[in-house]
Amino acid sequence: MKPVIVVHGGAGRVPEEDEEERWEGCRRAALAGWRRLLQGGSALDAVEEAVAFLEDHPLFNAGRGSVLNAAGEVEMDASLMDGGRLHAGAVGAVRNLRNPIRLARRVLDDGRHILLVAEGADRFARDIGISGCSGEELVTERQRARWEAMKDSPGTVGAVAVDGAGGIAAATSTGGLLRKRPGRVGDSALIGAGTYADHLLGAASVTGHGEAIMRVVLAKTAVDLLAGDRHPQDAARLAMAVLGERGQGEGGIILVDRKGRVGHAHNAPVMSCAFMDKTSDAPSLLW
Ligand code: ASP
Repeated sequence: MKPVIVVHGGAGRVPEEDEEERWEGCRRAALAGWRRLLQGGSALDAVEEAVAFLEDHPLFNAGRGSVLNAAGEVEMDASLMDGGRLHAGAVGAVRNLRNPIRLARRVLDDGRHILLVAEGADRFARDIGISGCSGEELVTERQRARWEAMKDSPGTVGAVAVDGAGGIAAATSTGGLLRKRPGRVGDSALIGAGTYADHLLGAASVTGHGEAIMRVVLAKTAVDLLAGDRHPQDAARLAMAVLGERGQGEGGIILVDRKGRVGHAHNAPVMSCAFMDKTSDAPSLLW
């Protein structure tokens, strides 16, 4: 089996002055996930690690640095899936957490439910000893200024990985869309829409306009397109055509198949992605 990790930092219109730092963030996140694989971690551990790294990075729209909703507050969605067992965990509209992806992981490990939202998710976090933070701690000055100027800020984050034992997983985390209604939950919390993994085929993490992505259940659609040994690059392009033509939306996708082959595509202007496998000394960027 050929271990690999691919990371994305969202698709959309990125301010030019941020581009370089975003690419660098993706590279470093890929490295964080790759190190986890080298230490014997599973694909699921690796995608969690890469996404948590980008949640901590203030330039991405996930964790600290998330966009603000209509009430000027941060509400986040995250999900992850283990393709071997089809186990999944997700949280929606959570507020007082630094790393929603780590809570999604605990929902997966707990196994009783797949998706917890809002206060119930916060309560679960407290019950299992994940320490919270104030909502203000997640708000960056830059996002407050963009909220005032009504400027959206892409930067949802995600990762897909295959480990040496053939495990395969996907994860996605976001602050969602600028000025969304409080309580809105997007594709990134929904298994099948923003995140999907199935060890018979592959794994996908999606970014872009959540309502369009949900309409075409994009991550599952893309993974299904891997049937018949289709190359992930072709499947990623076909998935973007589905998003554009049927969903009438913009976005991007990263995809890996069970052989560790990689694909990515976007119909939004820019998408930052990086990948790492055994053949590279350092993470490479995907354009
Ligand atoms: N898909 C995310 C959402 O709609 C946003 C994004 O990926 O930029 O919540």
